[in-house]
Amino acid sequence: MSKTANTALLARFIAIVGERNVLTDPADIAPHLEETRGLFHGDSPLVLKPGSAEEVSAIMKLATETGTVIVPQGGNTGHVGGQIPHDGAIVLSMARMNRIRDVDPAGGTITVESGVILQRLQEAANEAGLMFPLSLASEGTCQIGGNLSTNAGGTAVLAYGNTRQLCLGLEVVLPTGEIWNGLRRLKKDNTGYDLRDLFIGAEGTLGVITAAVMKLSPRPKSIQTVLAGVVDPDAALKLFRLAENTCGPALTGFEIMPRISLEFVLRHIEGARDPFDDAHPWYVLFEISSGQSEEAARGLMESLFEAANENGLIRDAVASETEAQRQSLWLLRESISASQKPEGGSIKHDVSVPVAKVPEFLEKADKAVRERIPGIRVVSFGHLGDGNIHYNLSQPVGADKAQYIARWREMNEIVHGIVLEMGGSISAEHGIGQLKRDELAAIRQPIEIELMRRIKMAFDPAGIMNLDKVVKV
Ligand SMILES: Cc1cc2nc3c(=O)[nH]c(=O)nc-3n(C[C@H](O)[C@H](O)[C@H](O)COP(=O)(O)OP(=O)(O)OC[C@H]3O[C@@H](n4cnc5c(N)ncnc54)[C@H](O)[C@@H]3O)c2cc1C
Repeated sequence: MSKTANTALLARFIAIVGERNVLTDPADIAPHLEETRGLFHGDSPLVLKPGSAEEVSAIMKLATETGTVIVPQGGNTGHVGGQIPHDGAIVLSMARMNRIRDVDPAGGTITVESGVILQRLQEAANEAGLMFPLSLASEGTCQIGGNLSTNAGGTAVLAYGNTRQLCLGLEVVLPTGEIWNGLRRLKKDNTGYDLRDLFIGAEGTLGVITAAVMKLSPRPKSIQTVLAGVVDPDAALKLFRLAENTCGPALTGFEIMPRISLEFVLRHIEGARDPFDDAHPWYVLFEISSGQSEEAARGLMESLFEAANENGLIRDAVASETEAQRQSLWLLRESISASQKPEGGSIKHDVSVPVAKVPEFLEKADKAVRERIPGIRVVSFGHLGDGNIHYNLSQPVGADKAQYIARWREMNEIVHGIVLEMGGSISAEHGIGQLKRDELAAIRQPIEIELMRRIKMAFDPAGIMNLDKVVKV
């Protein structure tokens, strides 16, 4: 395409949203080309910020007509590079589509545009006396459209499910420009193929999510948040089973983290404080929520402590008395990734194995990575209750960061090999994007990849929707 034609085409896209709603200056575009881990560096001549589904529709029609690749972008917090454009693709930023269209406390639903920031959605639910349980460390930046497109998980999956389970209906603009209004509020709807579920977790490869109906839950009357020191992952797993038996559905979160993560957080995160006098090899952070009363939540916590002490499972524990204390306990878990940055390069894995196999996975993976890179610092933490571990590997002290990061794929092969042997998944929460696309093709059955390709071609015959992410066509 000649430069003039290119400029003329860009002008047609710009005319759809108006000059005030685009970015063309490379300095303004730059933040849309880098993701939080610095793994992918994109290029794009244009960021479009549509304000309505109709504008998105006009953009997609023009893109299909001219074969122009469009990359949807939410809060740009994704971990697999799905939101990063390449080869001059145009970025479709959903930031302006941030209206809350309707809150229905009686029906327990909220209808929002896809650019609503997750935290804003949580606040709107709160204002209506209800709760939106999806909770991630990136909630101040990520958007509900991005959460839906990656089927995000987070810390409350154990009790409330991941984003898929929280969604009732979607509005989607197809690559052809057609608008599908599937904003239904039904909990039960067995009428043919589930189109909604195809778009959830599709990472922007099948269409642009422009709005969604999300489920709200009653707000617990009381939440008891506990940080406990334990001797090893096996004790953590036993404690998890005991907590499930004792608390049933009142157990609303169960996270695990090693001592090294706490040391990183204490070293680098302002306001972080160790609540214990002694160091413990591992920690679990869990929550017990009661819809009835504070006494009920406390009662469950005390029964659990009693049973755990009888079994020698807890070395020490603290429970939050106030919301501020609760937040300070969560800070120790939620700032682990941030605290790894000043420690140098970190090679990440987002894996899951059957819950009962988490200790075995950690043991095998730790041995294998330490043999390959002596001095490597294993910062393995995550959602034990879901069998989902963020198996992050910080570089040895004093190592060269670039040389260490260059070994990303080599370390992935070791860790993912162990995960697959144990019947696990190489992407529990974050998706495939561009980071794991070729690996997906290698580990899934050929028929699965072929079906994904056919679905992609059916929705996007011109191949313009986030091309070559997730599956190559
Ligand atoms: C500190 C931190 C903590 C995190 N913790 C978690 C966690 O606990 N659990 C978890 O699951 N993830 C976690 N993440 C990853 C990330 O926050 C989630 O994947 C989030 O859901 C991405 O939302 P986003 O709006 O930033 O999407 P983006 O990063 O902008 O995009 C992600 C993907 O969705 C597509 N997309 C975005 N919006 C739309 C749309 N409207 N229509 C169609 N496609 C779209 C993009 O093309 C891309 O493929 C974390 C990230 C950070 C930085």
